[in-house]
Amino acid sequence: EFARTIHGSGADLLRLINDILDLSKIESGTTSIDLQEVPFAQIQDEVERTFDQIAQDKQLDFIIRCDEDLPGTLLTDPTRLQQILKNLLSNAFKFTTEGSVGLHIKTLREHGVAGIAGPAVAFSVTDTGIGIPHDKFNVIFEAFQQADMGTSRKFGGTGLGLAISREIAALLGGEIVVESAVGRGSTFTFYHPLERNVLGTVGARAVAAAGAVEERIVRPLPRTVADDRPHREIEDDRERIEATDRVLMIVEDDVVFARILLGLARDRGFKGLVALSAAAGLALARRFRPDAITLDIGLPDADGWSLLQEFKTDPATTDIPVHVISGAEQWQRALDFGAVTHLKKPVTEEALTQTFDSLLGFVGDGSKNLLLVEDDITQLNAMIRLIESGEIAVTAVRNAAEALEALTQQRFDCVVVDLGLPDLPGHELIAQMRRTVSGASVPIIVYTARDLTRQEERQLAEISEAVIVKDALAPERLLDETRFFLNQVESKLPSHKRTPFDAASSPSPSLAGNRVLIIDDDARNIFALRSALEGCAIEVLSAESGQEGIDLLERTPNVDIALIDIMMPEMDGYETIRRIRANPPFADLPIIALTAKAMRGDRESCIAAGASEYISKPVDIDRLIALLRVWLNR
Ligand code: ADP
Repeated sequence: EFARTIHGSGADLLRLINDILDLSKIESGTTSIDLQEVPFAQIQDEVERTFDQIAQDKQLDFIIRCDEDLPGTLLTDPTRLQQILKNLLSNAFKFTTEGSVGLHIKTLREHGVAGIAGPAVAFSVTDTGIGIPHDKFNVIFEAFQQADMGTSRKFGGTGLGLAISREIAALLGGEIVVESAVGRGSTFTFYHPLERNVLGTVGARAVAAAGAVEERIVRPLPRTVADDRPHREIEDDRERIEATDRVLMIVEDDVVFARILLGLARDRGFKGLVALSAAAGLALARRFRPDAITLDIGLPDADGWSLLQEFKTDPATTDIPVHVISGAEQWQRALDFGAVTHLKKPVTEEALTQTFDSLLGFVGDGSKNLLLVEDDITQLNAMIRLIESGEIAVTAVRNAAEALEALTQQRFDCVVVDLGLPDLPGHELIAQMRRTVSGASVPIIVYTARDLTRQEERQLAEISEAVIVKDALAPERLLDETRFFLNQVESKLPSHKRTPFDAASSPSPSLAGNRVLIIDDDARNIFALRSALEGCAIEVLSAESGQEGIDLLERTPNVDIALIDIMMPEMDGYETIRRIRANPPFADLPIIALTAKAMRGDRESCIAAGASEYISKPVDIDRLIALLRVWLNR
C-alpha cells in the first residue's frame, strides 16, 4: 500500500508537489549543488531560529551542542544542508511529545562511512520520541514510505522527507544513518565530508551535478562489439560532441529515416549519433552515453528487443530514455521492456515530430512538468497561479479525456487529479493513466473536496501516491500559504534572479465597498462583527432571525456575502441557508456559516446545507477577514 490520505489545504498539496519535483530533479541529476564556505555559527543560528518556537509550543527542550574542535567554516551547499537538518529536526519534533530534541555537531576522524575518505562532520539529531522498529530502518528512506504504514496514523506527512534528505546527503558527498529504539527515541546522523580534496570525497553524482561532465564519456569500447565504421553512410555528430551537449542516438537501419530523425534532433538543438545496426548501437551508447535513444525494432543484425533489454540491464545505459519505433503494434511489449515512448511505423511527419518532442522532453532543461486535472475553472485558475513558476510548467486540463490526451503528448513529473470529474470517475481515470506509457510510473496526487469512504481510500491508495482531502477552510489557508510558497520558490532561485518578496509589504486586495449581510440572533455578536468589518470600509447589513435575513437579502441589491449563525431559535442557520440557496439569484452567493464550536460533523452539515465555508465562534476576526478576501475577490 502506498498512499496516505492527508486532510489538508492547498498548501499541503503544494508542499507535496514541491517535494515530488525536488526528488525527481535530484534523481534525474538535473539539480546542482552550490558550494560555499559556511560558518558553523550560521548553520546553528538558522536551525535555532526555525525550531525555537516549535520547541516552546510543544514544551520540549531543544538543545544544540557544537564541539569545541569544530573549524570555523564548512565547505557545503548551505541551502541543501539546511534542507536536511530541517527535515530531520521536523521529524524529531513531530514524533516526540515528551522530553527533548537535540542537535549535536562534531568532527570525527574515524567514522566508518565508506563514502567519506577523510574526516567527517557529524550532525546528529536525537529525540526522545516514539522510535522506529529495527526492521523499518531502511524502509523509511524510501519515497512515500512511513514506519507505520497500514495502521491508523496520528502523524501527518508524506513520507518524502527522508527520501529527499538521503538523496541530498549523497549529493553533498555524505550519508545519513539511523539508530533507534521503539519507545525510547531516535538518532539520525548526517555525515558530511569535512574536507573536499576535489574529487576523492565527493560522490560521483555530485561531481556530475556540479558540472564536471567530462566524466560522461567514460566507458571504453567493449572488445566484443563490432566496429561500426563500415556502416557510416551518414555524417552524424560523433566527432563534434562536447561535454555540455545534449545527445540523441538514433538506432535505425533505414538510412533515409535515420537522416530525417537526425535532422529533427539537430533542429531541436541536439547533437545526433546514428547507429545502423544493433552492434553499433550498443557500442555508441556505452561510449557516448547519449541523453536519449530512438530504437527501431527491426534491425538487420539482431532483434531490437534484445538490444532494448541490453540497454535496460546495463547500469551504464539503464537510465537513458528509449523511444521505440516498430512496424507492429507492440506498445505493451515496448513498455514492459522499459521503453518510454512508442511509435508505429509508417509514421506521419506530424506524429513523429510530436513523439520526438515528447522524448526530448525527457531530457529537458531541468524544469519540471505538472499535469493538473480539475473541472472547476475557478479552482483550476487559482491552482495554476499558485503552482506555476519558472521551474514548474503546469499543463491544466478539465476532464479525463484531455488528461489522457495530454499524457500521450508529453512527459510529466507529477499529476494532480480532482476526483469529481465530469466524464470519468477519478479512480477510473487514474487506472487508465497507469496503462499509458508516461502515466505508468508518474507520481499521482488525488486532491479532492469530498470525504472518502474507507473503501475508496483503499482503492485510491493502490493506484496513487497520495490523497489529499481538502479542508473546508482550505481557501483561507491557501491565501496565507501562497505567500509561504512564493517565498520558498524565491529562496531556491539563484540570488541574481531573486526579487525581494516581502509578504507584509505586498498589498492585500482591498475589501472596501463590499456589502455583507450578517444574520445572527445575538445582537452583541452582530455589533462586534459590524465594528470590525466597518473598520475595513465594508458596508454591513444585519438581521436577527433567519426569516428577517432572507427578507432583507431579497430586498437589497448586490449583497456580496452572507454570514449566517447556525444556532438560532425558530429557523436555524441550516434552514436559512437552504432557503437562500433554493432561490436562484442566490445560488452562488458566498455564505459563511458561523458555528458555535467546531464540532465533528458541523462542517459537513454546513456544507451540505449549502454554505460555502464555515468559521467557528467566537469569530477570530483576522481569520474572518482572510476568508472574506478569498470569497470576495474571486
Ligand atoms: P514523513 O515524516 O513525511 O512521513 P519522512 O520521509 O520524513 O516522511 O519519514 C518517513 C517515516 O520515518 C515517518 O513517517 C516515520 O514513520 C519515520 N520517522 C522519521 N523520523 C522519525 C523520528 N524522529 N522518530 C520516529 N519515526 C520517524
